[in-house]
Amino acid sequence: MTEEKGLTPRAQDFAAWYNEVVLRAELADYAPVRGCMVIRPYGYAIWELVQRALDEMFKQTGHQNAYFPLFIPQSYLAREAEHIEGFAPETAVVTLGGGKELEEPLVVRPTSEAIIWPIMAKWIQSYRDLPVLVNQWCNVVRWEMRTRPFLRTTEFLWQEGHTAHATEAEAEEEARRMLGIYRKFMEEGMAMPVLTGRKTEQGKFAGALRTYSLEALMQDNRALQAGTTHNLGQNFARAFEVTFQNEKGERDFVWNTSWGVSTRLIGALVMSHGDDLGLVLPPRLAPVQVVIVPIYKADRERALVLEVAQRVSSVLQRMVRVRVDDRETLNPGAKYYEWDLKGVPLRIEIGPRDVTAQQVVVARRFVAGDGKRKITMREGEILASVERLLEDMQRELRARARQRREENSHRDVTSYEDLKAILEAKGGFVYTGWCGSPECEDRVKEEAKADIRVIPDDEFRSSKAPERCPVCGAASTQEVVWAKAY
Ligand SMILES: [Zn+2]
Repeated sequence: MTEEKGLTPRAQDFAAWYNEVVLRAELADYAPVRGCMVIRPYGYAIWELVQRALDEMFKQTGHQNAYFPLFIPQSYLAREAEHIEGFAPETAVVTLGGGKELEEPLVVRPTSEAIIWPIMAKWIQSYRDLPVLVNQWCNVVRWEMRTRPFLRTTEFLWQEGHTAHATEAEAEEEARRMLGIYRKFMEEGMAMPVLTGRKTEQGKFAGALRTYSLEALMQDNRALQAGTTHNLGQNFARAFEVTFQNEKGERDFVWNTSWGVSTRLIGALVMSHGDDLGLVLPPRLAPVQVVIVPIYKADRERALVLEVAQRVSSVLQRMVRVRVDDRETLNPGAKYYEWDLKGVPLRIEIGPRDVTAQQVVVARRFVAGDGKRKITMREGEILASVERLLEDMQRELRARARQRREENSHRDVTSYEDLKAILEAKGGFVYTGWCGSPECEDRVKEEAKADIRVIPDDEFRSSKAPERCPVCGAASTQEVVWAKAY
């Protein structure tokens, strides 16, 4: 057997478990530059599935892909005051090029508003040129002090959508629309329920009018910001002089939005569904949905079993991503261990007795409740059965994640002592009233190492509106959700 020792159990050390899964499931590896990571082929295959699904949704809503340069002249970034203040501490700056000192230092993009809008300004003349709806898939660099693979890295891959509109209402609608698209993808594709809502003034994107966020609860009861959309108002349009002639013939500034999700989503997948055996991938984002493991001892069995394995594979190939693991160097037990670690949803075992009986054994990576892990099925019914099992697993993973979130959501918390105690002892999402003052937010941040994740959208609010801010006792102006976060 080539089996390594098991993973550190989640309950013992969640952070260690996470790092081990990322490395051993071959999602990523460390790079020579601290905070950077190598995304390995298996991890990149997951990212490609994420990209494919989102890209289609973006295009269905009228967005087109484009590409803007990696380098931004430093003076451009400085043109929007809040933006530069927010990003300056974490930018990487190039001062030498070709061995010579540059006339103007170049910032490696931390996000692309400051390069996209000065260029777009040339293209937008009249209301007829609006809306502009672009997206780019690219890498960005933010010089992070504390990094973890996928969750926070100095360089990461993402998509950034950038749009321009004629009215504030249209920009607001766009920011909300993209929040809805992200939510649909996270819930249906990733099987990961999310809370949506608005960020507080302190939590919003540097330079935005309003920021909306999607917050997911990980298995260690920490929140993870899975994506954000921003209504940028006219701040960037003013800074970069993006104007248009409106229908009345007047010059006006455009209204902008931007929105993004990143390779952080892969970290979210790991921490939402993984178990002590490793990764558990929701079928829709599994690079390999079904792995077929042939089992044989004697050589004459080998040909027989492999023939059936190939036949089953070619049937399944029509609808699912399938792979036959015919490596001679590993025994079946070692293969099971590896595919469990990599979170493959279904494993089909075919041995000589199965061949004779015209059946196969299907083992599920995740089973809801006390369902059986292994099911025997006739070869003839395999395609329909496998499709159904994958759909069931997708749904059940989401239901489990939702149930876990509900069990770890604490409502009706009215005292500051309770707020701190719950955040400290249990974690999870804590709903309270809030007076709206940043001082109260800062105090919790300081004393409980937690912050306001969102001012939740209507559907997430408690049925009874909270009356007081637990921190200062003043009247509450809105309900908020607190959590410790990644
Ligand atoms: Zn207060």
